[in-house]
Amino acid sequence: MTISPSLQPEPDPTIERKGIRVCGVVQGVGFRPFVYRLASEENLGGFIGNDTDGVTIELEGPAARIQTFLIRLTSETPPLARIDSVATSDLAPNGETGFRIVASEVLGRVSTGIPADAATCSDCLRELLDPADRRYRYPFLNCTNCGPRYTITRRIPYDRPQTSMSRFPMCPQCQAEYDDPLNRRFHAQPNACWRCGPHVWLETPKGATIESADPVAETIERLLRGEVMAIKGIGGFHLSVDATSEEAVRSLRQRKHRYGKPLAIMVRDLTAARMLCDLTPQEEALLQTPARPIVLGHARKHNGIASSVAPGIPWLGVFLPYAPLQHLLFADPRVKALVMTSANLSEEPIAIDNDEARSRLAAIADAFLMHDREILQRCDDSVAALVDNKPQIIRRARGFVPLAVPLPFDAPPLLAVGGHLKNVLTLARGKFAYQSQHIGDLENPTSLQFFEECLHHLMNTFEIEPRTVVHDLHPGYLSTGWAKQWAGNRGLRLIAVQHHHAHIAACMAEHALSGPVIGLSLDGTGYGTDGRIWGGEVLICRLSGPDPASFERFAHLDYVPMPGGEAAIREPWRMAFGHLIAAGFPEDETRELVGATEQEARVMRRMMERQINAPFTSSLGRLFDAAAAVILGRRKVDYEAQAAIELEAIAVDEPDRLQRMDYVPELFAAEKDTDGTMSLRIGHLWRAMVDDVRHGVPKARIAARFHGGVSEGFIAAAANARKNTGISQVVLSGGCMHNRSLSCLLRSGLEEAGFKVFQHVRVSPGDGGLSYGQAVIAAAILYSESTR
Ligand SMILES: [Zn+2]
Ligand SMILES: [Zn+2]
Ligand SMILES: [Zn+2]
Repeated sequence: MTISPSLQPEPDPTIERKGIRVCGVVQGVGFRPFVYRLASEENLGGFIGNDTDGVTIELEGPAARIQTFLIRLTSETPPLARIDSVATSDLAPNGETGFRIVASEVLGRVSTGIPADAATCSDCLRELLDPADRRYRYPFLNCTNCGPRYTITRRIPYDRPQTSMSRFPMCPQCQAEYDDPLNRRFHAQPNACWRCGPHVWLETPKGATIESADPVAETIERLLRGEVMAIKGIGGFHLSVDATSEEAVRSLRQRKHRYGKPLAIMVRDLTAARMLCDLTPQEEALLQTPARPIVLGHARKHNGIASSVAPGIPWLGVFLPYAPLQHLLFADPRVKALVMTSANLSEEPIAIDNDEARSRLAAIADAFLMHDREILQRCDDSVAALVDNKPQIIRRARGFVPLAVPLPFDAPPLLAVGGHLKNVLTLARGKFAYQSQHIGDLENPTSLQFFEECLHHLMNTFEIEPRTVVHDLHPGYLSTGWAKQWAGNRGLRLIAVQHHHAHIAACMAEHALSGPVIGLSLDGTGYGTDGRIWGGEVLICRLSGPDPASFERFAHLDYVPMPGGEAAIREPWRMAFGHLIAAGFPEDETRELVGATEQEARVMRRMMERQINAPFTSSLGRLFDAAAAVILGRRKVDYEAQAAIELEAIAVDEPDRLQRMDYVPELFAAEKDTDGTMSLRIGHLWRAMVDDVRHGVPKARIAARFHGGVSEGFIAAAANARKNTGISQVVLSGGCMHNRSLSCLLRSGLEEAGFKVFQHVRVSPGDGGLSYGQAVIAAAILYSESTR
């Protein structure tokens, strides 16, 4: 029946229709059911749908109710969602009264964040352990407030067919939950149950199925017997052993060829974590975030954990279960603490695929707890710590990725490949840079393969086709070679960025600083513009102006030889040898202080005299290594910065930092180097330190004085830079900023000296943040060219 126009009722003037666009993390986080509920409660008509930009909502009803809806939209947002912007527009009312959820559309360009993986929520945990629930002990339960996201997503919009759950058709019961807007599982993409979803099973290292009625219970028995288990998780496989068994931990280390590096411990809950570590309220909060990172806490004495878990350091990496399967392991009261370490041979990427795990872990694991939900994105566990009372993400991976960080300039599509160690790549377009998960050290073909996998995944999901590729200045990095070849094959533009400049730019961009700033780039090693190895740098940087690619090197730590190059990183005594000789110590005394044989000393001296494989470095990280070699007598390390970490560890509770002011390096303004920069002379620092060693001053005190001296030296250098330039903003970056004591001493000392100090917030100060800094500088260059 049609109604003639004259018979239509007059439109109610108070009825409005609004179009609403919401951007941010709004997909896969229970946002649509939340909006559905709000609209129903406010009695509004219209619809909501996901699109590649976020969500689109249309609402129709009385103006006042729409207003209330908008207020509630931002004040009652679901826990995993994050609203970045809400834009409204006026539409003509069409009489719609009911509210509905429409199918996802693929519209335009992608900028919405893919949600990160989130730990099992309390509602799901209750169901998991409730014998009356239909999902009792089901290892893959989840809802819109929790579960895997990024690691199972092929592309956005985030919908079941685009995830690795696409091969599990839902049973009628699961489907009914999925379709019911008032259900907690409404459009929960990985929704599943015993009947329709993935399942677990046990295998021998040879790939034969181990028959078991309850593979999880069997896994627990094996762990308690001291076996090494490979357990498939959310972002990859873990290797797990009973953390209270010295023997089990030792056999895991031997089989994995990982000797010194600390192992992470998973415990049942916060109460159990408190038994292992003295936790501050902030650390406890960090432990419980939906990302469930490994948190480095201060270990308690006699906590029952095998001493070989974290030898030589006072911190313990602890984390809480985040997957239902892990909760099931800890549901058995006999399971107290488990080592859960990334399943790989040292320095290879974490294994994710069942076949990959079978072939790579057969010699390590006694048995495998497998499942058939495919992991599409390799993601290690994230690592976080409280540094200077602020949370710092040391390794950004599962739960924190992908990370969209704003850019200060609109960037054309570009790829920044990062550095050599602790690689993270960044794709950028428009106002955002997207940082990948931690990829690892780009030293072998498998990690390069992971890098490429990750790149293609992010290019796909964010639909970014780079036109510029940014790489480090170092000609020998695998990433540089890769970038040149990849860009060459595609005819793309290449931009090279100096390592320590990128560190500072990353921190500047986080605070939207255009500069000029004084940047303290305190780091391990990076290639300098003079071909030497930098790492203790005072830089003047700006991101605006005609030449944002340039920076001024105001001062740096004195150059010293690094005998053996890379070998000096693995063997800090070589670094100490280089430093002591450079500081004027006689060879006999040097040899004795670093514990070298006559033969070793002869080799070192020859390398340095003939300048063969003894590159010069101004690295602060290497100065820390050298100091640790002399103070602690450490000759070799199992991982980069181990010696420096041990030095920090013993200094941590020592208040006597500045008792010996002659520990402070001197800045010789008059003795400018040939390139016009100034050196921080560290000879007398060494003499004071050796003097203390000779007089039997406690190691902790020497270590503390060393930290104090170094920070005072850089504060003095910053003050000198301020006198020369008038700049009073200081930006702190570089891998040494992971050092809690140094970070805190520098920040407080600089503030006392009247500086405004900026530190990293979301991006890592270490090499994990490098690619973001590279992207920032490239964006600045391209922006300045476009406005010329
Ligand atoms: Zn849940
Ligand atoms: Zn089902
Ligand atoms: Zn670095």
